[in-house]
Amino acid sequence: MLSIHCPTHKSEVLLTERRIRSLRNTEHGIVMDVECYCGTHVTIRTGRKRYASEPAPSRDPVLAS
Ligand SMILES: [Zn+2]
Repeated sequence: MLSIHCPTHKSEVLLTERRIRSLRNTEHGIVMDVECYCGTHVTIRTGRKRYASEPAPSRDPVLAS
């Protein structure tokens, strides 16, 4: 279940995952296109930035002597 703000309902609407129309992973985060029960499409941006754009944590594999 996910909660969106529908401009047609003018309120928060609780939708099931079945209402998700598309899910895109962009450099600005996850962009989700959801269709409300009333037919209104709402675009939600969620999640963090892609991990791929962040440098991997550096780790020393061997202890320095
Ligand atoms: Zn609605």
